[in-house]
Amino acid sequence: MTDPAITKPGPDPVVVAIDGPAGSGKSSVSKQVARRLGYGYLDTGAAYRALAWHALERGIDTSDAASVLDVSGDFDYAISLDPDAYWVRVGASDVTDAIREPRVADAVSGVARVPAVRESVNALFRALVARSGRPGVVVEGRDITTVVAPDAPVRILLTAAPEIRAARRSAELTTQDAATVAAALHQRDASDSAVVDFLTAAPGVEVVDSTPLDFDQTVDAVLGVIQAALSAPTVDPLQTGA
Ligand code: C5P
Repeated sequence: MTDPAITKPGPDPVVVAIDGPAGSGKSSVSKQVARRLGYGYLDTGAAYRALAWHALERGIDTSDAASVLDVSGDFDYAISLDPDAYWVRVGASDVTDAIREPRVADAVSGVARVPAVRESVNALFRALVARSGRPGVVVEGRDITTVVAPDAPVRILLTAAPEIRAARRSAELTTQDAATVAAALHQRDASDSAVVDFLTAAPGVEVVDSTPLDFDQTVDAVLGVIQAALSAPTVDPLQTGA
């Protein structure tokens, strides 16, 4: 079901759009929310990370937009939308773990700021959602609520205080000390926010601040927003498309 070539007829999946900065808990929360609803889960940052990995493999300078665009021409990308079987591939290589390496995180903003790259991955994201075969898809990233799916029936900005985000990311990355992780995170935030404003909610976007919440509480808060948004008479998050 994760092969985008396999399509299932039926209504368009409900899109739950979740944006937020690194360390906000976005990925793990989105994945769990998708599980709870029987939805697919689309990690959009993985596409930018995989392209950065691909560029690094080719020895490309990721700060050079023309080179990035050039190498994106033969970028053979695939991702699972199954929250219980997550994988990312570039060609025959499974890059699920490799794209989390700090060298990739350091290079990714350079790739993500190329407008033609963004346009092409955004078209890919919309196609992956349309062909998911799921009643809904939780799509998480930086510009989902504003660019990729601005008409989504549920749009959420998941935030957390900077020191909390750094601490969470540091707990995930055991190969680096906390100060190094915090510095890299702040550097990436600064580069990314020059491209997309993911720290301010666009009109109609609901903010969930995870600073005082643990993981389960954050999942419940997000599910609450989804239930409220989809409790309109025509849409039920657990029934639609089923
Ligand atoms: O979410 P994650 O940290 O994996 O995202 C990796 C990078 O991909 C971000 O730092 C950002 O540069 C880019 N990104 C983006 N737009 C998205 C998702 C991610 O520019 N929708």
